[in-house]
Amino acid sequence: MLSEKEMPTQWYNILAEMPHQPLPALHPGTKQPMTAEDWYPLFAKELVHQELNTSDAWIDIPEEVYEKYKIYRPTPLVRAYNLEKALDTPAHIYFKNESVSPVGSHKLNSAIAQVYYNKMEGVTNLTTETGAGQWGTAMALATKMFGVELAVYMVKISYEQKPYRRSLMQTWGAQVIASPSMSTRAGRKIITEHPTYQGSLGTAISEAIELAMSTPNCKYTLGSVLNHVSLHQTIIGLEAEKQMEMAGEYPDVVIGCFGGGSNFSGISFPFLRHNFKGNATTRFVSAEPASCPKLTRGQFHYDFGDEAGYTPLIPMFTLGHDFAPAHIHAGGLRYHGAGMLVSQLLKDNFIEAMDIQQLESFEAGVLFAQTEGIMPAPESAHAIAAAVREAKLAKEEGKQKVILFNLSGHGFVDMSAYDQYLAGDLMNYSLAQEDIDKNVAKLDQLV
Ligand SMILES: *Cc1c(COP(=O)(O)O)cnc(C)c1O
Repeated sequence: MLSEKEMPTQWYNILAEMPHQPLPALHPGTKQPMTAEDWYPLFAKELVHQELNTSDAWIDIPEEVYEKYKIYRPTPLVRAYNLEKALDTPAHIYFKNESVSPVGSHKLNSAIAQVYYNKMEGVTNLTTETGAGQWGTAMALATKMFGVELAVYMVKISYEQKPYRRSLMQTWGAQVIASPSMSTRAGRKIITEHPTYQGSLGTAISEAIELAMSTPNCKYTLGSVLNHVSLHQTIIGLEAEKQMEMAGEYPDVVIGCFGGGSNFSGISFPFLRHNFKGNATTRFVSAEPASCPKLTRGQFHYDFGDEAGYTPLIPMFTLGHDFAPAHIHAGGLRYHGAGMLVSQLLKDNFIEAMDIQQLESFEAGVLFAQTEGIMPAPESAHAIAAAVREAKLAKEEGKQKVILFNLSGHGFVDMSAYDQYLAGDLMNYSLAQEDIDKNVAKLDQLV
């Protein structure tokens, strides 16, 4: 067991060590590279500095953040002996269990840091969006810890399908609004054009940004995609690296499910640095839903992070910012684009992407629950499905290999999705490449 005293005291900033720097984010109005000043109205200054920091590979975790991490960190690294046995595989399968955080997912690692820096800079109110509700829940607890007010725009379909995450946010004192809402210009516009629109992360981001920009002493926070979010999540991989060392092993494959990239980055980047130096040849596999396949079937292009086009233009693998993904139950993976770090790394072949159909993910999730006893989040079940594929391949090839995946969260608040799966009411979704191409082609007008 990794003890509290051995917990890493710094985050790993991959931006300082990537062989090829990503292209800069662009100002949505001028189309010029975003400067720190351009970012300041949106985010706390320290977070902006982290976003743009290309020189320091290691960044100290502030003491107050470290103290809060100690409530649930270090998280366990577990060898999945029973899953290995069920698959009859020669592979060793390990998972890092981020589901033990009080909010049930890895999201709290960045929420605590983001709220802390805002609080230090005198911000009194924060806004954010949430898809399935995990990020909003993490922000609700983190703002409660530091005494900051929070408004959360929650994607409407999740607001209705996942009422318990709303209850959690409200218990921790956050104000939760179903998105699209009539409270913002972006929300009113989309409701007028598409009255039955069920919402998307892109729209909720637009609403949260608009509220932050029009409220005094208020800033916006984002739970994935951006560099500083990935930075905070590296605590996952840094702990896992020490824990694997204690187990006397080193991963051949590292796997994370993929929404905007934060938990995948968190488990991967600390190991990836050894590949950069030529000291390891680990593979890094991101597992995305087949119904929202930005990495496997999207295009590398400048695109907005939100539906209305309020965010900077980010160089990313994307399906187009107005892409409306099917309503799969892994709500946290229903996002049109990927962060610029992971996008550049995919372009440079340092990482791989795998698409997983909904039914395969639930099948793997149930197998994991039956063998390891933990109900995985539907998002995390994509990583499990990818690990199962790798383990089966090891068996076919008769090869020993070490697989490490991130269990990004538990599924206790997603049991209605499992109910539907067990009743045979879930299905796979297929997407025509033609439709993807059509949506992505619209991006050529942006830059
Ligand atoms: C939000 C979330 C994800 C997807 O987001 P990333 O930024 O890609 O990590 C995956 N799993 C869980 C449990 C989540 O809450």
